[in-house]
Amino acid sequence: MIRFDHVSKRYSNGFEALKSLNFSIDAGEMVFLTGHSGAGKSTLLKLIMAMEHPSRGQVFVNGSNLTRMPDSQIPYHRRQVSVVFQNHQLLFDRSVFDNVALPLVIAGYAASDIAKRVRAALDKVGLLHKENRLPLELSGGEQQRVGIARAVVNKPKILLADEPTGNLDPELSAEIMDLFRQFNEVGVTMLIASHDIDLLKRQNKRVLALSEGELRADMAPANAGAVH
Ligand code: ADP
Ligand code: ADP
Repeated sequence: MIRFDHVSKRYSNGFEALKSLNFSIDAGEMVFLTGHSGAGKSTLLKLIMAMEHPSRGQVFVNGSNLTRMPDSQIPYHRRQVSVVFQNHQLLFDRSVFDNVALPLVIAGYAASDIAKRVRAALDKVGLLHKENRLPLELSGGEQQRVGIARAVVNKPKILLADEPTGNLDPELSAEIMDLFRQFNEVGVTMLIASHDIDLLKRQNKRVLALSEGELRADMAPANAGAVH
């Protein structure tokens, strides 16, 4: 579903953020991406989103070579691959419903279809009863769940998350992980960047460890406890 073939990323200032990465992630896997701040986690996720392009090598996502993808295909690509951010990136002057509806509005869905899908997504994250609230009326954990509902509302094949529990306490973080596992169990391929090692040890999933832009380890679930 995702394959990096000798991928390097050098930013325009000359800094090499990723160095010749090789790995692949199968459809239906749930994988954690770890490493210290600055290791290259966000850059790797941006390459999968086609928000940045590799300087060398090829990135394949869902059967397409992103290096060769024409710009006209990128909106379609971004409907297959959704992302959850640490700071939610919610619109604070719009209701919960409108925030979750946004990707569908942009994609041009009919209003009746939007209402049905938004409510289904809010139901999955347990926030159907708060659809008319503004984000600031919700707790941090609830805001993150709105961000997740928005990311899954168009039923992506791949869900990426960049430090999705960065601002949450351990109990709320565990709830967010449970939600991710539920999406994964219905077939969504997941890649979750997190430097919270205790959290990802408890998940017992495959772990890719980056260090200074290099892939230092690719650990099977049974070995995930050895991450340090
Ligand atoms: P471009 O590739 O368009 O020339 P840059 O790579 O210089 O642009 O920067 C793109 C964005 O990333 C800018 O908003 C810039 O502020 C930000 N940026 C630049 N350097 C860094 C850095 N070391 N870490 C994080 N963000 C950076
Ligand atoms: P992480 O998500 O693991 O913290 P990042 O992918 O954000 O790592 O950053 C990796 C390295 O690349 C950092 O040293 C960062 O400063 C640098 N970097 C990130 N974005 C840019 C940019 N646009 N231009 C230049 N350097 C950048």
